[in-house]
Amino acid sequence: MAFPTIFSCRRIVFKLFVVQFIAFQANAAPSRIISFPGDDTPQTDKEVVLNYLNKFYGCSEDRCNLLVLRDTLKKMQKFFSLQETGEVDAQTVAIMKKPRCGVPDVANYKFFPRKPIWQKKDITYRILGYTPDLDEEVINDAFFRAFKVWSDVTPLTITRIMDGEADIMINFGRNEHGDGYPFDGKDGLLAHAFAPGPGIGGDSHFDDDEQWTLGDGQVVKVKYGNADGEFCKFPFLFEGTEYNSCTPQGRDDGFLWCSTTYNFNEDGKYGFCPHELLFTIAGNADGAPCKFPFTFQGEKYDACTTQGRDDGYRWCATTDNYDQDKSFGFCPETAMSTVGGNSEGSPCVFPFTFLGDTYEACTTSGRSDGKMWCASTKSYDDDSKWGFCPDQGYSLFLVAAHEFGHALGLEHSEDPGALMAPIYTYTKDFRLPNDDIKGIQELYGEMNCVPTDKPLPPTQGPVTPMDICKETVVFDAVAQIRGETSLNIV
Ligand SMILES: [Zn+2]
Ligand SMILES: [Zn+2]
Repeated sequence: MAFPTIFSCRRIVFKLFVVQFIAFQANAAPSRIISFPGDDTPQTDKEVVLNYLNKFYGCSEDRCNLLVLRDTLKKMQKFFSLQETGEVDAQTVAIMKKPRCGVPDVANYKFFPRKPIWQKKDITYRILGYTPDLDEEVINDAFFRAFKVWSDVTPLTITRIMDGEADIMINFGRNEHGDGYPFDGKDGLLAHAFAPGPGIGGDSHFDDDEQWTLGDGQVVKVKYGNADGEFCKFPFLFEGTEYNSCTPQGRDDGFLWCSTTYNFNEDGKYGFCPHELLFTIAGNADGAPCKFPFTFQGEKYDACTTQGRDDGYRWCATTDNYDQDKSFGFCPETAMSTVGGNSEGSPCVFPFTFLGDTYEACTTSGRSDGKMWCASTKSYDDDSKWGFCPDQGYSLFLVAAHEFGHALGLEHSEDPGALMAPIYTYTKDFRLPNDDIKGIQELYGEMNCVPTDKPLPPTQGPVTPMDICKETVVFDAVAQIRGETSLNIV
């Protein structure tokens, strides 16, 4: 591989241009608000309300006239413990603008005609697709932990299968993705799941126009360097500066890198951040890097493209001629990949021009919602190609745990602290709230063993108390509990 592996941090050419992500605008004058192509979020309050009540409260577009609207609005306000005014007030609209699950809040409507549950204790799931936002292992682990949230408190066993028809089929998609319930670009709807049943029942879909993380910023697994396979530590310290994202500083080949411990100068642990010139994902080339330029249908490509696909995923050929070799892979998200917009995840290009001004970093100019965005070509004015800049993102684990609750038969909870509340809330140290435990145990019964808070001996490693029910543990008492568990599950 033509890739320089010697990292000469001592010989740094200090560059005049500083770190991306620091919002610096060439022109501080307020720019006018424009409508961005592919962005259907800017709506009047009335539109927000009608759209919300239609999607989540069964108020059909033709029936949602003034009278029904008031009543339905009251239902929504009751659900969220707001004052039941039936009026479109600021507080109500603010709740409606929060990121949430796509499953309606009222039962007996579309998704949940009758309270269905799985009529068995052994449930299977299969992961059909991955988001390029996260490493595959991180995704597998997030889904595994999300199912465990529920199997820890019920007699259910939930097993992953690698092929064939599973009860719960998991996938990522954008906009209309094959089931008639389209997603909506960044924010807004995050995911949805179908209630237990045959076919699409139990299936769980995640909006790939979101930035999927573990809830507090990009999760970047590094390649090569001297910490291959470890994760970037953000922020990290390099030559006296703290970095919150991958950086090209200290290198002259343009590759982005990060430190995998806080202090690079002390520990010297680093790796390279995902880039299509280092590797590709899936495809048929076993992760080989992109080869630029490559030929596809007689045309030359100098960058990853979505041409030839209708799902919006960026790919490249891994030899210089796709038409001949048919060898390809998908391009990983890079540190400056855009989210949503109309650039299908292409990275930001700095500087870019927008309404005649030059921008060196992400900006909120032109938007009324304060969201940071960038252009993905040199000139927004010429190409109108844009996307949002990376932010904290949404925790795939938390959203999946919520969706799998639906896939097991739970509806939305009116308890704002519950995992099954419709609005997304990030919790760092998640524990399944009582409301959810009560809900799932009403459907499937209790776990047939008593979890204990007794501390584990140090040799057991980081096993949470709930795991005692399922782990092979040497103590007599615990082994007995485990025996009971197995008996009752089988
Ligand atoms: Zn939901
Ligand atoms: Zn779907």
